[in-house]
Amino acid sequence: MNLVIENLSKTYPNGTQALKNVSLEIPTGMFGLLGPNGAGKSSLMRTISTLQDADTGSIKLGDIDVLKEKAQVRQVLGYLPQEFGVYPRMSAYQMLDHFALLKGIKNSRERKEIVKALLHQTNLYQQRNIKLSNYSGGMKQRFGIAQALLGNPKLIIVDEPTAGLDPAERNRFHNLLSEIGENIIVILSTHIVEDVSNLCRNMAIIHKGEVLLTGNPRQQIEAAKGKVWKKIIDKEALQDHQANFNVVSSHMFDGQIIIKVFGDTRPNESFEASEPDLEDVYFAHIKTKEQGEQQSDTEPNQGSQLVDAGNVSQNPEENKTV
Ligand code: ADP
Repeated sequence: MNLVIENLSKTYPNGTQALKNVSLEIPTGMFGLLGPNGAGKSSLMRTISTLQDADTGSIKLGDIDVLKEKAQVRQVLGYLPQEFGVYPRMSAYQMLDHFALLKGIKNSRERKEIVKALLHQTNLYQQRNIKLSNYSGGMKQRFGIAQALLGNPKLIIVDEPTAGLDPAERNRFHNLLSEIGENIIVILSTHIVEDVSNLCRNMAIIHKGEVLLTGNPRQQIEAAKGKVWKKIIDKEALQDHQANFNVVSSHMFDGQIIIKVFGDTRPNESFEASEPDLEDVYFAHIKTKEQGEQQSDTEPNQGSQLVDAGNVSQNPEENKTV
């Protein structure tokens, strides 16, 4: 079963155009929806999850018309939203049992078996009687997956699931996702490039409500080979390089900055070839799109320096130039 989205657009009442003619075909397996904050990922996820309407366009899940047949969608959908609310005083077992009842699993013996199996699958069985308020971030997210798996869904949507998780918890969560992503559609919405490169067979990059790229992460990385160039520079030289080269990202390293430049030929002798990764692909597409917008903008451009050399943070996550 495929999820097929065609020409989906959404403008909020305040005038924000969150989705612009989005078309995507999403097959079984893990699909990464990658984009910076504000790109429109949650708007798209909420629309697919029947929680909000689009202005125009269509979404089909197999034979189901998602925008019209909402009750049918909900029967086959598991959703882990960004803000996942639970009753903190309840234990994981009690809460999951409650969700199972809401899902319509009325037979208590059957419910018990299902709840136990899900707690085992998400590795929470040992902690099943602990109150959810005492769960760590990673345990809460695994609990979120347990509830999303109730009722054997055909489609699971997880919105920014690993933000705030420590590396071990994130790894555990990745393993869980990749297990469940073998037979059903799992859409992973995230701004973390590594999550997509580690987990997803297919992906899309979305930016300002528009799909910039769709494809297989490995093929996209392959296509970028020979086009990424790197150079280590002093902090003070960043602004100059940004003015003179197509710098797509900059990271602090050992007190200096590694810049990456995208282009078919080596900018000059001071640059060396760099093995591309998905992050390079991601930043290059976003940068290219933003440059296109700046060129079509007739106003004088005050904002082309996306990172101020005087403000480079020690945290590599904050140093990306998009
Ligand atoms: P993402 O999930 O990628 O961060 P969102 O879908 O949350 O993106 O937001 C896309 C754009 O729509 C942003 O500019 C955001 O501020 C705006 N937006 C999101 N929800 C609403 C809303 N309910 N009303 C008005 N604007 C919204």
